[in-house]
Amino acid sequence: MLSVRDLGVAFGTVQPLSGVSFAVGKGETLGIVGESGSGKSLTAMSVMGLLPLSGGRITGGTVEFDGQDLTKLSERAYRKLRGGRIGLITQNPMTSLDPLQKIGPQVDDVAKLHLGLDATKARARTEEILGTLRIPEPALICERYPHQMSGGMKQRIVIAMALAADPDVLIADEPTTALDVTVQAQIIRLLDDLVKERDLALVLITHDMSVVAQTCDKVVVMYAGRAVEHGPVEEIFDRPRHPYTQALIACIPRGLDGATRLTGIEGTVPTVVNYPNGCPFHPRCPRAEAICATDPPDFSVHGDSAAACHFAEVADAQSA
Ligand code: SF4
Repeated sequence: MLSVRDLGVAFGTVQPLSGVSFAVGKGETLGIVGESGSGKSLTAMSVMGLLPLSGGRITGGTVEFDGQDLTKLSERAYRKLRGGRIGLITQNPMTSLDPLQKIGPQVDDVAKLHLGLDATKARARTEEILGTLRIPEPALICERYPHQMSGGMKQRIVIAMALAADPDVLIADEPTTALDVTVQAQIIRLLDDLVKERDLALVLITHDMSVVAQTCDKVVVMYAGRAVEHGPVEEIFDRPRHPYTQALIACIPRGLDGATRLTGIEGTVPTVVNYPNGCPFHPRCPRAEAICATDPPDFSVHGDSAAACHFAEVADAQSA
């Protein structure tokens, strides 16, 4: 349904994203995972055609949706697609909704714009979608303002807006970051159900490997604006070859026995003007050797997954 190949993005002379590739099909969930600053949201913006708004441009690669290269699309054509066949769920429901407008009209507008429904049919559709999202008393909720609802309820409304035009692809950019942990679990379960019920292709952007483990079929691990490992989730969790993937998995909290210390990753993600030469992870990598500081690693393929590390073969042999 959606296929991104070798995507590169620049802002002026700065290149924050390069060589990003992934594909997601109907009824499938792809996770894009990495720390803040790894390029996940920029990837989402590129797919949604939103880069020009922030002064960015695509420097190479393709973004294919249903056989069409979106990098060649005019802004007018993109406007039809965005929020229509490709829906976006943003990070923060508190800022995604218009505080001065009731919920009903905000969701109605999407169906009116993209499906050409009149006011009565759009409202019927809004109430139906709110019901699907397990929102009680949809008619009553349509008459409420965003400030009258909890964070979890607001995120459900944002999901309703993304679903209102019956999209084929949903991009969810850290959809649970602003929510407390119990509501997070509900929203993740809801998205999982929607993928199955509606045969959606879901791209789930997250910094949380445990969310990937629970919901995704495939995963792309990103670091410093590049994909560093990708493959089926089971395979990646079973045998992570890239030290960054291994470190992210090690950060998942396990048990509450009081004796196990939470693990972190030493150092910080480099800023876009400071991407290191060679392998971008080398200043933080416990396995780094001299070659890592000078030569960028290529991807090596292992089964259905691939890792960009000079020593992926060694990691593969050790974990066999
Ligand atoms: Fe670490 Fe070197 Fe592999 Fe990069 S190429 S992840 S620095 S071992």
